[in-house]
Amino acid sequence: MTSIAETLAQGTALLRDSSGSPYADAQLLLAHVLNRGREWLVAHGDATPSVPEIQAFQRLGAKRSRGVPVAYLLGSAGFYGREFLVNENVLIPRPETEHLVDEARRFIGDRPLRVLDVGTGSGAIACTIAAETPASVHGTDISPAAVGIANENARRLGVADRCHFCVGDLTEPVGAQRFDLVVANLPYVPSAEIAREPDPIAYEPREALDGGPDGLALYRLLLDALPPLVNPNALILLEAAPPTIPGLSAIVRSALPHFAITVCRDYAGLDRYLRISTGVALG
Ligand code: GLN
Repeated sequence: MTSIAETLAQGTALLRDSSGSPYADAQLLLAHVLNRGREWLVAHGDATPSVPEIQAFQRLGAKRSRGVPVAYLLGSAGFYGREFLVNENVLIPRPETEHLVDEARRFIGDRPLRVLDVGTGSGAIACTIAAETPASVHGTDISPAAVGIANENARRLGVADRCHFCVGDLTEPVGAQRFDLVVANLPYVPSAEIAREPDPIAYEPREALDGGPDGLALYRLLLDALPPLVNPNALILLEAAPPTIPGLSAIVRSALPHFAITVCRDYAGLDRYLRISTGVALG
């Protein structure tokens, strides 16, 4: 009979070389197998999981030790205080992307605006905006599997009536519709910098990360298509890699010369996204 405390110690030892947070990872995986919270494990270190439970934990631990991200093993990830289903078809939502939601909330207030989320992935940005505001949100993604997950997340969060997800390339699915707010966290990692196994990022879909040679290939295409799709007082929020922010600003300046660009930093103090607006008073 192996106790929870012993099982966690073994799991932590297994993950020591492969994870930056071996104890926390072991806790999350064991809590998942036992269908309990992490705090329950702490309070019940002497309890003895069943043999099948220990084996299930060991299988997850072995995958984690090869680099598979914890979020894929759990099947969910937290974003802006909510849980989102994720799997290997979608990028795992990052904390820095929460800044886009903060900006969107401030801009939308209590107005029922029209929002477009290009490259929605799990739908984390789109569903959160729909949950936090009265806006109606259109999301697009080139991946049918991602759109399936986004729809499921919208349904689980009770916002499916104001979330419309479509499969297609960038803005192609929305035709000539116009929007008050456009958000995008497009693939922006320069191709040569995409991580390799056992880095957990190597398990995420390449088509959600790879932004071409300079990381801006998809943003160039988006900015080509965007001008006729934005209303005069629209706000546009674009997340990118810190070193690519000056290049992205130049692309935006030539595509949207009447808009003002503000470079904004993430929690780590790095230039992370552009806030693009007309600066005209909103009424
Ligand atoms: N922030 C992600 C990373 O650094 C990249 C996300 C993206 O390409 N949109 O791995």
